[in-house]
Amino acid sequence: MASGPAEKQESTSAATCWCGGALGPSPHPAYFSCLRCGTQVAQEILSTEGLQDHYHLDAYWHDRARQLNLPPIEVRARQDFGDRIPVWYRILRRYQPTCQSVLEIGCSHGGFLAYCRSHGIAEVVGVEVSPETCAFARERFDLPHVQPGFFPAVDLPRWSYDVIAAFDLFEHLSTPLATAQAMLGALAPGGALLLQLPCYRGEGVDWPMFLPGDHLYLYTAGAIREILARAGFEVTAITKAIFWYDQFVVARRAGEVTPGQRWRDRLMAFLPHRRKTTRAERHAVREPR
Ligand SMILES: [Zn+2]
Repeated sequence: MASGPAEKQESTSAATCWCGGALGPSPHPAYFSCLRCGTQVAQEILSTEGLQDHYHLDAYWHDRARQLNLPPIEVRARQDFGDRIPVWYRILRRYQPTCQSVLEIGCSHGGFLAYCRSHGIAEVVGVEVSPETCAFARERFDLPHVQPGFFPAVDLPRWSYDVIAAFDLFEHLSTPLATAQAMLGALAPGGALLLQLPCYRGEGVDWPMFLPGDHLYLYTAGAIREILARAGFEVTAITKAIFWYDQFVVARRAGEVTPGQRWRDRLMAFLPHRRKTTRAERHAVREPR
Protein backbone atom coordinates (compact mmCIF):
# COMPACT_ATOMS: atom_id res chain seq x y z
CA MET A 1 0.00 0.00 0.00
CA ALA A 2 1.43 3.39 -1.00
CA SER A 3 1.79 5.91 1.80
CA GLY A 4 0.56 9.43 1.14
CA PRO A 5 2.57 12.52 2.03
CA ALA A 6 0.31 13.26 5.03
CA GLU A 7 1.01 9.88 6.63
CA LYS A 8 3.75 9.36 9.18
CA GLN A 9 6.90 7.72 7.86
CA GLU A 10 7.27 4.99 10.48
CA SER A 11 10.47 3.38 9.21
CA THR A 12 13.17 3.45 6.56
CA SER A 13 15.16 0.64 5.03
CA ALA A 14 18.75 0.47 6.31
CA ALA A 15 21.26 1.43 3.59
CA THR A 16 24.56 1.15 5.47
CA CYS A 17 25.78 0.09 8.90
CA TRP A 18 26.26 2.66 11.69
CA CYS A 19 29.98 2.39 10.80
CA GLY A 20 29.40 3.25 7.15
CA GLY A 21 30.20 -0.31 6.09
CA ALA A 22 28.31 -2.04 3.27
CA LEU A 23 25.57 -4.52 4.18
CA GLY A 24 25.45 -8.16 3.13
CA PRO A 25 23.23 -11.11 4.01
CA SER A 26 22.63 -12.02 7.67
CA PRO A 27 21.65 -15.45 9.04
CA HIS A 28 18.30 -13.80 9.91
CA PRO A 29 15.99 -12.79 7.03
CA ALA A 30 14.97 -9.48 8.68
CA TYR A 31 18.58 -8.32 9.21
CA PHE A 32 21.66 -7.41 7.20
CA SER A 33 25.20 -8.17 8.31
CA CYS A 34 27.83 -5.41 8.09
CA LEU A 35 30.62 -6.63 5.85
CA ARG A 36 33.06 -4.36 7.70
CA CYS A 37 32.31 -4.66 11.47
CA GLY A 38 29.94 -7.62 11.74
CA THR A 39 27.05 -5.66 13.33
CA GLN A 40 23.66 -7.19 12.54
CA VAL A 41 21.50 -4.36 11.19
CA ALA A 42 17.69 -4.57 11.14
CA GLN A 43 16.44 -4.05 7.59
CA GLU A 44 13.70 -1.69 8.79
CA ILE A 45 14.93 1.14 11.03
CA LEU A 46 12.05 2.90 12.81
CA SER A 47 11.78 6.69 12.62
CA THR A 48 11.40 8.78 15.79
CA GLU A 49 7.61 8.70 15.30
CA GLY A 50 7.72 4.95 14.82
CA LEU A 51 9.81 4.50 17.97
CA GLN A 52 7.50 6.78 19.93
CA ASP A 53 4.51 4.60 19.04
CA HIS A 54 6.43 1.38 19.61
CA TYR A 55 7.58 2.28 23.14
CA HIS A 56 4.25 3.65 24.36
CA LEU A 57 3.49 2.20 27.82
CA ASP A 58 0.52 0.14 26.66
CA ALA A 59 1.90 -0.90 23.26
CA TYR A 60 5.27 -2.06 24.60
CA TRP A 61 4.72 -3.03 28.23
CA HIS A 62 1.25 -4.53 27.94
CA ASP A 63 0.28 -5.55 24.35
CA ARG A 64 3.74 -6.62 23.21
CA ALA A 65 4.56 -8.24 26.57
CA ARG A 66 1.36 -10.31 26.29
CA GLN A 67 2.18 -11.36 22.73
CA LEU A 68 5.70 -12.44 23.68
CA ASN A 69 4.51 -14.02 26.94
CA LEU A 70 6.65 -11.61 28.98
CA PRO A 71 5.66 -10.03 32.31
CA PRO A 72 4.02 -6.56 32.17
CA ILE A 73 5.76 -3.57 33.70
CA GLU A 74 3.84 -3.86 36.99
CA VAL A 75 5.28 -7.36 37.52
CA ARG A 76 8.76 -6.40 36.31
CA ALA A 77 8.78 -3.52 38.82
CA ARG A 78 8.76 -6.20 41.56
CA GLN A 79 10.59 -9.12 39.91
CA ASP A 80 13.65 -7.16 38.80
CA PHE A 81 14.64 -6.63 42.44
CA GLY A 82 15.13 -10.39 42.73
CA ASP A 83 17.69 -10.67 39.94
CA ARG A 84 19.11 -7.91 37.75
CA ILE A 85 18.78 -4.75 39.84
CA PRO A 86 21.11 -5.81 42.72
CA VAL A 87 23.59 -7.18 40.17
CA TRP A 88 23.65 -3.92 38.22
CA TYR A 89 24.09 -2.00 41.47
CA ARG A 90 26.95 -4.25 42.57
CA ILE A 91 28.68 -3.69 39.22
CA LEU A 92 28.13 0.07 39.47
CA ARG A 93 29.78 0.20 42.91
CA ARG A 94 32.60 -2.00 41.74
CA TYR A 95 33.57 0.36 38.92
CA GLN A 96 32.51 3.66 40.50
CA PRO A 97 32.70 3.22 44.30
CA THR A 98 32.27 6.94 45.08
CA CYS A 99 29.32 7.44 42.74
CA GLN A 100 26.96 10.23 43.86
CA SER A 101 24.87 10.71 40.72
CA VAL A 102 23.36 8.34 38.17
CA LEU A 103 21.64 9.02 34.87
CA GLU A 104 19.85 5.93 33.55
CA ILE A 105 18.80 6.15 29.92
CA GLY A 106 15.95 3.74 29.18
CA CYS A 107 15.02 3.45 32.85
CA SER A 108 11.69 1.66 32.30
CA HIS A 109 9.82 1.32 35.63
CA GLY A 110 12.60 3.11 37.53
CA GLY A 111 13.41 0.27 39.95
CA PHE A 112 17.17 0.50 39.44
CA LEU A 113 17.18 4.23 40.22
CA ALA A 114 15.08 3.65 43.33
CA TYR A 115 17.52 0.94 44.44
CA CYS A 116 20.51 3.27 43.87
CA ARG A 117 18.83 6.00 45.92
CA SER A 118 17.98 3.62 48.76
CA HIS A 119 21.67 2.59 48.81
CA GLY A 120 22.92 6.14 49.25
CA ILE A 121 23.32 7.61 45.76
CA ALA A 122 22.14 11.18 46.20
CA GLU A 123 21.01 12.06 42.69
CA VAL A 124 19.13 9.64 40.43
CA VAL A 125 17.75 10.75 37.08
CA GLY A 126 16.02 8.67 34.42
CA VAL A 127 15.03 9.01 30.78
CA GLU A 128 12.35 6.90 29.09
CA VAL A 129 10.62 7.42 25.74
CA SER A 130 6.98 7.29 26.79
CA PRO A 131 5.50 9.99 29.06
CA GLU A 132 3.13 7.33 30.44
CA THR A 133 6.02 5.04 31.40
CA CYS A 134 7.77 8.02 33.04
CA ALA A 135 4.61 8.74 35.03
CA PHE A 136 4.51 5.09 36.13
CA ALA A 137 8.14 5.28 37.36
CA ARG A 138 7.66 8.59 39.14
CA GLU A 139 4.60 7.34 40.96
CA ARG A 140 5.67 3.77 41.67
CA PHE A 141 9.03 4.71 43.19
CA ASP A 142 8.54 8.38 44.05
CA LEU A 143 11.20 9.46 41.54
CA PRO A 144 10.91 13.16 40.71
CA HIS A 145 13.40 13.16 37.83
CA VAL A 146 12.24 10.71 35.17
CA GLN A 147 12.07 12.63 31.92
CA PRO A 148 10.23 11.59 28.74
CA GLY A 149 11.82 11.66 25.30
CA PHE A 150 14.80 10.55 23.26
CA PHE A 151 18.12 11.31 24.92
CA PRO A 152 19.69 13.88 24.48
CA ALA A 153 16.50 15.76 23.44
CA VAL A 154 15.24 15.72 27.03
CA ASP A 155 14.97 18.11 29.93
CA LEU A 156 17.50 17.05 32.61
CA PRO A 157 18.17 18.75 35.97
CA ARG A 158 21.86 18.85 35.03
CA TRP A 159 24.25 17.46 32.42
CA SER A 160 27.05 15.87 34.48
CA TYR A 161 26.76 12.41 36.09
CA ASP A 162 29.25 10.07 37.79
CA VAL A 163 27.60 7.09 36.09
CA ILE A 164 25.53 6.91 32.94
CA ALA A 165 23.78 3.55 32.82
CA ALA A 166 21.97 2.04 29.84
CA PHE A 167 20.82 -1.53 30.37
CA ASP A 168 19.12 -3.20 27.39
CA LEU A 169 19.03 0.14 25.58
CA PHE A 170 21.82 0.49 23.06
CA GLU A 171 20.52 -2.19 20.69
CA HIS A 172 17.22 -0.27 20.40
CA LEU A 173 18.80 3.02 19.24
CA SER A 174 18.27 4.22 15.68
CA THR A 175 21.11 6.80 15.96
CA PRO A 176 23.62 4.98 18.18
CA LEU A 177 26.74 7.02 17.39
CA ALA A 178 25.06 10.38 18.03
CA THR A 179 23.54 9.03 21.24
CA ALA A 180 26.94 7.75 22.45
CA GLN A 181 28.48 11.17 21.72
CA ALA A 182 25.74 12.82 23.78
CA MET A 183 26.35 10.31 26.60
CA LEU A 184 29.99 11.42 26.67
CA GLY A 185 28.83 15.02 26.98
CA ALA A 186 26.75 14.15 30.06
CA LEU A 187 29.51 12.21 31.87
CA ALA A 188 31.24 13.91 34.82
CA PRO A 189 35.08 13.96 34.89
CA GLY A 190 36.26 10.52 36.03
CA GLY A 191 32.82 9.00 35.40
CA ALA A 192 31.86 5.66 33.89
CA LEU A 193 29.42 4.56 31.21
CA LEU A 194 27.85 1.17 31.98
CA LEU A 195 26.06 -0.71 29.20
CA GLN A 196 24.33 -4.06 29.08
CA LEU A 197 23.49 -5.16 25.54
CA PRO A 198 23.41 -8.30 23.40
CA CYS A 199 26.74 -9.59 22.09
CA TYR A 200 26.63 -11.03 18.58
CA ARG A 201 29.09 -13.90 18.27
CA GLY A 202 28.06 -15.31 14.90
CA GLU A 203 24.91 -17.11 16.02
CA GLY A 204 22.33 -18.40 13.54
CA VAL A 205 18.70 -17.53 12.88
CA ASP A 206 17.53 -19.04 16.20
CA TRP A 207 19.46 -16.53 18.35
CA PRO A 208 16.80 -15.02 20.65
CA MET A 209 18.25 -11.51 20.36
CA PHE A 210 17.21 -11.30 16.71
CA LEU A 211 14.07 -9.21 17.39
CA PRO A 212 13.72 -7.04 14.29
CA GLY A 213 10.96 -4.78 15.70
CA ASP A 214 13.00 -3.97 18.83
CA HIS A 215 16.70 -4.60 18.23
CA LEU A 216 17.90 -2.35 15.41
CA TYR A 217 21.65 -2.98 15.76
CA LEU A 218 23.25 -6.07 17.31
CA TYR A 219 26.93 -5.47 18.03
CA THR A 220 29.90 -7.75 18.30
CA ALA A 221 32.32 -6.98 21.17
CA GLY A 222 34.65 -5.38 18.59
CA ALA A 223 31.86 -3.23 17.13
CA ILE A 224 30.77 -1.84 20.50
CA ARG A 225 34.39 -0.97 21.28
CA GLU A 226 34.63 0.81 17.94
CA ILE A 227 31.41 2.83 18.13
CA LEU A 228 32.24 3.98 21.66
CA ALA A 229 35.78 4.90 20.58
CA ARG A 230 34.37 6.97 17.72
CA ALA A 231 32.17 8.77 20.27
CA GLY A 232 35.23 9.60 22.42
CA PHE A 233 35.17 6.75 24.95
CA GLU A 234 37.67 4.05 25.79
CA VAL A 235 36.17 0.69 26.67
CA THR A 236 38.08 -0.44 29.77
CA ALA A 237 36.24 -3.72 30.38
CA ILE A 238 33.85 -6.06 28.61
CA THR A 239 32.53 -8.80 30.82
CA LYS A 240 29.87 -11.47 30.95
CA ALA A 241 26.44 -10.13 31.79
CA ILE A 242 23.54 -11.70 33.69
CA PHE A 243 22.21 -13.53 30.63
CA TRP A 244 24.38 -15.60 28.31
CA TYR A 245 23.47 -13.66 25.17
CA ASP A 246 24.49 -10.26 26.62
CA GLN A 247 27.73 -8.39 27.24
CA PHE A 248 28.46 -5.86 29.97
CA VAL A 249 30.57 -2.90 28.89
CA VAL A 250 32.45 -0.35 31.01
CA ALA A 251 33.71 2.75 29.21
CA ARG A 252 35.35 5.98 30.31
CA ARG A 253 36.29 9.22 28.59
CA ALA A 254 39.25 8.52 26.29
CA GLY A 255 42.35 10.37 27.37
CA GLU A 256 41.17 10.38 30.97
CA VAL A 257 41.96 6.71 31.62
CA THR A 258 45.23 6.12 33.46
CA PRO A 259 47.09 2.77 33.15
CA GLY A 260 46.12 2.07 36.79
CA GLN A 261 42.44 2.64 36.08
CA ARG A 262 42.60 0.49 32.96
CA TRP A 263 44.10 -2.41 34.89
CA ARG A 264 41.71 -1.96 37.79
CA ASP A 265 38.68 -2.15 35.47
CA ARG A 266 40.08 -5.21 33.71
CA LEU A 267 40.69 -6.97 37.01
CA MET A 268 37.17 -6.15 38.23
CA ALA A 269 35.78 -7.86 35.15
CA PHE A 270 37.09 -11.19 36.50
CA LEU A 271 35.10 -10.95 39.74
CA PRO A 272 31.85 -12.91 39.81
CA HIS A 273 28.69 -10.78 40.02
CA ARG A 274 25.97 -13.41 40.09
CA ARG A 275 26.03 -14.29 43.79
CA LYS A 276 22.60 -14.95 45.27
CA THR A 277 20.71 -11.82 46.18
CA THR A 278 20.09 -11.49 49.90
CA ARG A 279 16.65 -11.00 51.43
CA ALA A 280 17.73 -7.57 52.68
CA GLU A 281 18.73 -6.55 49.17
CA ARG A 282 15.43 -7.71 47.73
CA HIS A 283 13.48 -5.71 50.27
CA ALA A 284 15.67 -2.61 50.24
CA VAL A 285 13.04 -0.67 48.33
CA ARG A 286 9.65 -0.07 49.89
CA GLU A 287 6.61 -1.85 48.56
CA PRO A 288 4.13 0.39 46.73
CA ARG A 289 1.90 2.48 48.92
ZN1 LIG B 1 29.55 -1.91 10.52
